[in-house]
Order: sequence, then structure tokens, then C-alpha cells
Amino acid sequence: MKAAMVRGIEDLIYGEFPTPKAGKGELLLQVKACAVCGTDVKVYHYGHRLIKFPRITGHELSGEVKEIGEGVSGFSSDDRVQVAAAIPCGECYYCRLGIQAMCDNLKAIGYHYDGGFAEYILIPERVLANDCVNKIPSGLAYEEAALAEPIACCINGQEISGVGLGDSVLVIGAGPMGCIHAQLARVKGASPVIISDVDDERLKMAEFTGADRFVNPTKEKLSEVIKKENGGRLADHVIVAAGSGPAQTQALEMAAKRGSVNFFGGLPKTQPTVNLDTNLIHYGELKVVGTHGSAPRHNKIALKILTSGAINGKDYITSVFPLAEIKEALTAAESCRGLKVIVKP
Ligand SMILES: [Zn+2]
Ligand SMILES: [Zn+2]
Repeated sequence: MKAAMVRGIEDLIYGEFPTPKAGKGELLLQVKACAVCGTDVKVYHYGHRLIKFPRITGHELSGEVKEIGEGVSGFSSDDRVQVAAAIPCGECYYCRLGIQAMCDNLKAIGYHYDGGFAEYILIPERVLANDCVNKIPSGLAYEEAALAEPIACCINGQEISGVGLGDSVLVIGAGPMGCIHAQLARVKGASPVIISDVDDERLKMAEFTGADRFVNPTKEKLSEVIKKENGGRLADHVIVAAGSGPAQTQALEMAAKRGSVNFFGGLPKTQPTVNLDTNLIHYGELKVVGTHGSAPRHNKIALKILTSGAINGKDYITSVFPLAEIKEALTAAESCRGLKVIVKP
């Protein structure tokens, strides 16, 4: 099969590799679409603590069942499926609590297992055993279904923040994750929903989300805009959908009393320390949380939301590349000029 393999830092080759075979308890999928995630770009440049090279990366994927291993039930050949990226163990303390994203023995597609930047992907037994393979509802294209994984992460984040009916939400960062958060907040009945970004072009691109207000904080005073839109109060929930220390500092200043701040985007590992005014947390009784990944059930909810049209996957797909042009696809994702980049083997 053709595949793109990362052999080491900034050493990515596209070529011919042996096609895996589905053994006992496994599935073989023909990959139909794999979206490029910010972490795919990071892994290419800097590696990742969980990845031993060589590795085929790509974890936001959908495909068609081609081989069914012995003992696998519930799937037939040609089934259209989406795969959750984070694979819990199903046995540890957190898994038993139902918080699979925090599994002590978490494994991930494209990290511990070969991923979706290939013509075929082997789905290991553990992925099936933990309900991480979902059938794609008819009417939803493979490219759209590949977006279920990033949407699942946002669903997890908003559950943690506690976004609910009538809440005011500020999303910092107008990239694909920020846009998903804005639309998801709307699905949850939040109002007003405000997106802020320092890049006017990105703000313009986010207009399709239907957020109530788009703010460039270098041009307008963000806190004033929020108060104006929200009856004189700051935001009940602030979601930092950007890997930025200054955005985290600013987020605390934008939260209403008893509000929440979610550090949704991680910071670069070389610069994880930020100066925060913790008195804002103290006096405002703020809830400061983080989000990392998603549980299998969040992927199922994401597929439902995509199917309902409340989030239209097509709005997010700004470019599609053939697998042979994987490097161009990574560059396009890195440029931050579009939203999601899809690779089609
Ligand atoms: Zn991702
Ligand atoms: Zn576990």
C-alpha cells in the first residue's frame, strides 16, 4: 500500500509499504479521508513523547471496512466507519469512572498505532473492544465524518467547562477548534457567543459559525465588547482554543464571577509556564480547567451533530490533498490560512 511514514524529526517519506492483514479481533480499513491536525504538524517538526519513529501518523480518519478478523462481530465488508483516536484501556480507575480521556493506559491512533495517512489502516483489537469504531450515518461524507474526532475533543471540553443554556461564551482563537467551539456552544443553547482573534483574516473566515460578535482585541477592548453584548457582565465561560500563554493570561480577565476558563489548547512544551493573576481566580471564584482529548462516546455525539447539520463539516474543509502530497498538506495546515485540510489516499 501507499503510505506516508514519519521516520524521524522532519523526515517524512511517501512510498510503498506492506499492507497489514486483519488478524484475530482486528479490522482492516481502507482509509477514505484523514484530516490534518495541528499535532500532526508538531509531530513532524518536533516529535512527540508518545511516538517511537518510524510511525504513520494521522488520527482524524474515516474509512471502509475491507477485512474482518476472526471473532469480530457487528461489522460487514464495505461498512463506512469513523474511528476515535484516543483508545482507553477500559479497566483503569478513570475508565471505570467513565472518564476515558484520562485513562491511565491511553493509547492513540497515529501515536502508538499506525494512523490514517495511508491507503489502509489496521484497527487493533483494543480499539474495537473499547467501542472506538463508529458506523457513519448515511448522508454524511467520509471527509465530514473525519471531523468527528476534533469535534469530540470540543464536546469533551464544553462538558468540562459546563457550558449550558443561556450561558455567555467567549472563544479565544478563530482556528478550526475555535470555530467548532463557537458552533457547539450554540448547539448547547449558549448566548451570546463571541470569538476573539488577533488575526482579522481568521476572524473573517470564522463568520460562517454564526457567532454573535467577532473581536480583534488589538483593535477593540475585549472586556468592553463582552460586557456590551452580555448585559454588563463578562463571559460565563472562556475557552482558549489557541496554544498561547498571553491568551491564557487574558482569558482569566474575561471571565465573569463564578465563570469558567478552559485552557483547551496546550502550550509548546518548551514554554509551558505562564504568569497568571491568580487573584482573579480567588476573588471571582473562577473554575480553571483544561481539556485533553475525548472519550469514545464523544465521537458518537460528534457524528450525530454532524449528521444533524448543526455543524456542517463542509464549512470546515478548506483544502483536500492526495496522500502523495502529504508534505504540501502539512504545510497548508501549518500556514493557518484555511480551516481543516483533508488528505485522501
Ligand atoms: Zn487531532
Ligand atoms: Zn483506562
